[in-house]
Amino acid sequence: MAQKIKVATIWLDGCSGCHMSFLDMDERLVELSEYMDVLYSPYVDQKEFPEGVDLTIVEGALSSDHDVEMIKTIRQNSKKILALGDCAITGNVSTMKNLYGTRAIMETGYGQNADHNESGEYPHLVVPKLLDRVHPLHEIVPVDYFVPGCPTPADAIYTVLKALIEGKEVNISQLTRFGK
Ligand code: SF4
Repeated sequence: MAQKIKVATIWLDGCSGCHMSFLDMDERLVELSEYMDVLYSPYVDQKEFPEGVDLTIVEGALSSDHDVEMIKTIRQNSKKILALGDCAITGNVSTMKNLYGTRAIMETGYGQNADHNESGEYPHLVVPKLLDRVHPLHEIVPVDYFVPGCPTPADAIYTVLKALIEGKEVNISQLTRFGK
């Protein structure tokens, strides 16, 4: 058997729905496991992002300094990045915040508790610091593949992964669409 491809998956500012769809491949996960090893993911207990990953599947937009740090680490250590779902590709629901800005959202949501320090920053010593605006992945790093959907259907994820494993091309628009 050819060497297995090394895969990572990560969930940034998303709802986990796209990772749930990944699990919805059900028994096809067993088939895929013959061709790929998952090195890093919410599904496995690996703390540090590894080096030498062939494919990283990213769910979610970039909303905090931690998200940006992670996507840069992923780009450095991944041959290919696949943006999975509408949040990763366009920002989707996460970018609704951009209409008003982080400050307005925090003050509306938390009132007096949303107090900030002298430099105008909200506390971020324990939780990641929110960015002023939310970004889809491609605004911060180059992305190799875009597979839309909210969530991306399991059938589309399976077909795309099989095609990547077999070195074939697929017509994404026949598999899924934005908002599906
Ligand atoms: S694209 Fe939809 S299902 Fe996927 S993380 Fe975003 S909101 Fe959730």
